[in-house]
Amino acid sequence: MTLEAALARLGECRGLLVASDFDGTLAPIVSRPDRAVGDPSALQSLVRLARRDGVVVAIVSGRAFAELRSLLGDAPGVVLIGEHGNDRGEEVVGGVEMVDEMAAFIRGVGDNLPGSAVEVKRHGVGFHYRRADAAPAEKAVDSILSWAEERPDITVTEGKELVEMSVAPHHKGDAVLALKEEAGAECVVFIGDDATDENVFAMLGPEDIGIKVGPGETAARHRVDDVSDVVEVLAAIESALG
Ligand SMILES: [Mg+2]
Repeated sequence: MTLEAALARLGECRGLLVASDFDGTLAPIVSRPDRAVGDPSALQSLVRLARRDGVVVAIVSGRAFAELRSLLGDAPGVVLIGEHGNDRGEEVVGGVEMVDEMAAFIRGVGDNLPGSAVEVKRHGVGFHYRRADAAPAEKAVDSILSWAEERPDITVTEGKELVEMSVAPHHKGDAVLALKEEAGAECVVFIGDDATDENVFAMLGPEDIGIKVGPGETAARHRVDDVSDVVEVLAAIESALG
C-alpha cells in the first residue's frame, strides 16, 4: 500500500498515536545542534492533531527533556519524551555516577577534537562531531567505543555524526509501545530519520504506519525525503481524520 493510501485510512482507527522524532524529522539537521529549529507548519499540525478527541501526539527525541521543551517552545497538548524514551521530565532512573564518569571521559576526548561538542544528559552523554575533521573524528569515536565496550552496563548508539552512551533502560520502541497502551490507541504513526528510530519501526504492527525520513536502510514500510515531506504527511493525517 502506498503511504498516501495508508494515511487516508487513518480515519477508521479507534484511537491514534502520532509520534515523531525531532532532529532530522521535524527540524532540519544543522551543524550546531543547539540551533535546531522545528518546522513551524509541522509543529502547528501536531498541536492541532493533539486537540482532537482520540488522538495523542508525542515527540520522542534523543535530546534531554528540558532541552526539547526549550527548543519547542509552546506546544500545548504535545507529549514530550527525551533521552530516547527515558526522560519525561520526571525522576532520574539511576546510574548517575556512571554518567559523571562517562562525561569526564568524553570531555577529555572532546578537548582533543576541535569542532566536537559534548551533550551531558540525565542518563547519558552524547558526543557530536559534525563540525570536526573526519579522520581525527573517527579516531575519537573509536576510543569512545572501546571505552564503552569495557563497561557492560552502558548502551552505545551511533547516530548522525553522533555517538551516545547511556545507562538508561529504555529505547524509543519501548517508549512508543508504552504510549500506545497509555493512549489506548489502535494505530500508531511514527516518523523518524536515524538509527534509534529503527527500534520503533521494528515494533510496529500491520495497523501502524512507520515512515523513515531520508536515505539509508530501514525497517519502516514507508519513506519520505525530508522535513518538508513530513509537513505534508502531517497535513494528510489531518485531512484523513476529517
Ligand atoms: Mg532524528
